[in-house]
Amino acid sequence: MKILLKNAHIIDPSENIDQVADILIVDGIIKKIAPKISASENVQEYDLDGKIVAPGFIDMHVHLREPGYEHKETIETGLSAAATGGFTAVCCMPNTNPPIDDASVVKFIKEKSAKALNGLVDVYPVAAATKNREGKELSPMIELVEAGAVAFSDDGSPIENPEMMRRAVEYSNMLGKIIIQHSEDRALAKLGVMNEGLVSTSLGLPPIPSIAEEILIDRDIRIAEYVGAPYHAAHISTAGSVEIIRQAKKKNLPVTCEVTPHHFTLTDDAVRTFDTNTKMNPPLRTQVDVDAIREGLRDGTIDVIATDHAPHSFDEKEVEFLEAPFGIVGLETAVGLAITELVIPKILSINQLIEKFSINPRKILSLPSVKIIVGEKANFTILDIQKQWNVDAKKFKSKSKNTPFGGRTLIGKCYAIINNGMIHFSD
Ligand SMILES: [Zn+2]
Repeated sequence: MKILLKNAHIIDPSENIDQVADILIVDGIIKKIAPKISASENVQEYDLDGKIVAPGFIDMHVHLREPGYEHKETIETGLSAAATGGFTAVCCMPNTNPPIDDASVVKFIKEKSAKALNGLVDVYPVAAATKNREGKELSPMIELVEAGAVAFSDDGSPIENPEMMRRAVEYSNMLGKIIIQHSEDRALAKLGVMNEGLVSTSLGLPPIPSIAEEILIDRDIRIAEYVGAPYHAAHISTAGSVEIIRQAKKKNLPVTCEVTPHHFTLTDDAVRTFDTNTKMNPPLRTQVDVDAIREGLRDGTIDVIATDHAPHSFDEKEVEFLEAPFGIVGLETAVGLAITELVIPKILSINQLIEKFSINPRKILSLPSVKIIVGEKANFTILDIQKQWNVDAKKFKSKSKNTPFGGRTLIGKCYAIINNGMIHFSD
């Protein structure tokens, strides 16, 4: 199959490419890039005038919910949401049922995702670091890596025991994989449901203090430094976390981190609505934290934007705030929020945006890089950064609709993705 993209604005920061050109793709491979390519027979031609073609985006923190929670999301619906949101690849987290702590579960996910949408979106499973994510015994890491796991995490739960964390970092490093930590000291977080501060006091809701996150990041960086291995902090949310990681990077420690679109967009003020779609873990923080996160994104302290896409059914969220599960869907709003909240206010350039959505996460996970050069696989996210649109959760491809961004007007959207020889349009 031949695809001809006309007038594409190609931006590939890893290759220092920023040019307008035509791209010819034959059987999924980039055959030619030139100012003008004329169409031969049997070519699907698309005019991309005004659109940006970037190396395919990857979301390194997604909950696909299958196996075990198919009423929230299935691999098929999750990947459909990913493709529509602009992601050619996702990493799926291990808190499924059964959890991804056994090679058979990794194989199940790999096989199902290869069939979903004919394999349009690449899926990289993140396996549990400990058996049943209980923090008591390491998972069979070698078998998990052989089956296709790309990293280890007990996400949803922290690895609390420092000795267990040390072993997990050591063994995963021996296998060339990173540990992704859900940083939360549970003794400090207790049964909190929102950020500790003025808003939690005035609403009378049990709080989660910033220090619950920061103390674990601080500890884990010490463990990683002691062991001499890389470490990745998932979904950081506080000004203190940004500063701890900034200092670690100044010491040249191999520490990386990610942030979600909701943590650079919303504050705990949103919880005043008691909308359970403002309940997430880590919780929405204060304006000081949001400002620090934006600065951390700008100065490179924060490497990656990841969604922590956490689908929950309508019934599960339609309960008292205290009872509701944590988490929101994010795959279909991430690119729009990042362009609206970060690129338009000039916090990030388009190049930096592409680094955080595509280049940095692949580097951190030691995945093959994606380049827009002749001879490489065509793996593109095509952006329309001018498109104004309204978030309508009813239109989400995700099985769940739990978003706090419904009704919001965003600027910038994924136009299409190209991967594994297929093109998929968002609208
Ligand atoms: Zn988490």
